[in-house]
Amino acid sequence: MDPLDFSVLNNVLINFLWHLLIVVHSQTKPIVAQHFLSQNQVWREIKYAMSSLPWISIPTVALFFAEVRGYSKLYDNVSDSPLGWSGLFLSMISFLFFTDMCIYWIHRFLHHKLIYKMFHKPHHIWKIPTPFASHAFHPVDGFLQGLPYHIYPFLFPLHKVLYLALYVFVNIWTISIHDGDYRVPSGLISVINGSAHHTDHHLFFDYNYGQYFTLWDRLGGSYRHPSALMGKGPMDLIRKLQVEGKLRKEQVNGHDQRRATCKEE
Ligand SMILES: [Zn+2]
Ligand SMILES: [Zn+2]
Repeated sequence: MDPLDFSVLNNVLINFLWHLLIVVHSQTKPIVAQHFLSQNQVWREIKYAMSSLPWISIPTVALFFAEVRGYSKLYDNVSDSPLGWSGLFLSMISFLFFTDMCIYWIHRFLHHKLIYKMFHKPHHIWKIPTPFASHAFHPVDGFLQGLPYHIYPFLFPLHKVLYLALYVFVNIWTISIHDGDYRVPSGLISVINGSAHHTDHHLFFDYNYGQYFTLWDRLGGSYRHPSALMGKGPMDLIRKLQVEGKLRKEQVNGHDQRRATCKEE
């Protein structure tokens, strides 16, 4: 596949999926904690993502060129894999664990007090992110956090189509941890870094830096059991305020946000 076709196909697929997921999500999600969203938040998230993505794309496309022009260990056919189909399966698992580890440390580095304000703060403006915040990063932040996906094929053999599929998956995952849907299968709560975990990262900063798994947060001493899963999340606060009469039903879900009487706690 021509390098340019490959990167364009990647971007088109990602953008298509991003918009499809957001549209589907907005139709099916029963209630959004709109009361806790800042004014015009969704619009500002979209604007920020749209202004950053072209800058992130420039070095990213350059890396894609190097990858598909033969400088990486990407291959075209299953027969090129030393272990056949099981090699593909193994590379899928190792890709997830390798990138999860790298993103954990890069993300933690971006929280360093000398770096944070410059590059990572724009993503943390939103305390309760919406799916549109998933790609709203400062260009340097976005590029650095995406870098592990491009380092992997230079170090390890990877099938090109699998690479494309993983890239799409990664983008869907990034959207999903910002979508406010806190459900995680009960047996996986302690293993998977889901939306409830990442919302606590936006709220409390120094916890849950991970991407897919809680592994590195546990090893690095930054794991925090999600407040939403302990009945102390944003939606629980809304319900509590409604019960106490400090917040009327119509003040939630975007109907009467500015006249809401409660204060953030
Ligand atoms: Zn962060
Ligand atoms: Zn985030």
